Amino acid sequence: MCGIVGFVGKQECSGILLEGLRKLEYRGYDSAGLAVYDGKRTNLLRVEGKLAGLAKALQEKPLSGSLGIGHTRWATHGRPSEENAHPHKAGPVVVVHNGIIENHTALRRELLQSGVVFNSETDTEIISHLVNREIAAGANLEGAVRATLRRIEGSYAIAVSSETEPDKIIAARFASPLVIGLGAGENFIASDIPAILAHTRDVLFLEDGEMAVVTGDGVRIS
Ligand code: GLU
Repeated sequence: MCGIVGFVGKQECSGILLEGLRKLEYRGYDSAGLAVYDGKRTNLLRVEGKLAGLAKALQEKPLSGSLGIGHTRWATHGRPSEENAHPHKAGPVVVVHNGIIENHTALRRELLQSGVVFNSETDTEIISHLVNREIAAGANLEGAVRATLRRIEGSYAIAVSSETEPDKIIAARFASPLVIGLGAGENFIASDIPAILAHTRDVLFLEDGEMAVVTGDGVRIS
């Protein structure tokens, strides 16, 4: 087990994301990372090991922006390393994922055959490439995530953002927990309530098979 956090609003969010991940440390992890959209592009910071390492990396290379996602990883596919740590980026798309993609071998083969270059050994990276491929073919982010999830077998809680629609995070779950925290002009995503309790007590629980489009102004679940 491990953790996901997400924030979209108007404040600087890297500290909020890091604090959220700290509250999820009890779930166990071997590496951690953040992705924050700075107004032009999404920047990543990932480390193997403890959150103290991520905090130090963040001091040396601050991530500025008010939309971001974070992750603590418990490796299932690919050893614990910086390259295998989440978020995973493909084109404009960044993804964090808890769970296991059971049909990853077939999907990876399909993507390799279409010329995709992988940067990690994870099953998760498949999601970022599939979403990127859908966007490149003309889908919006929500549609791209929806189409991707139809192809995936296994368990997942995911949070996805894209430089092409930098006002929103898409969250979805199947057999891995995910909650949405509602704030004023800002909203949160997390694997568990403690990660967002400092900011809101207004919480929605995503059910299996549901996805949420989360912006600063609202949350739409389908
Ligand atoms: N299966 C993914 C990986 O190995 C996610 C693991 C997790 O739940 O943290 O990267």
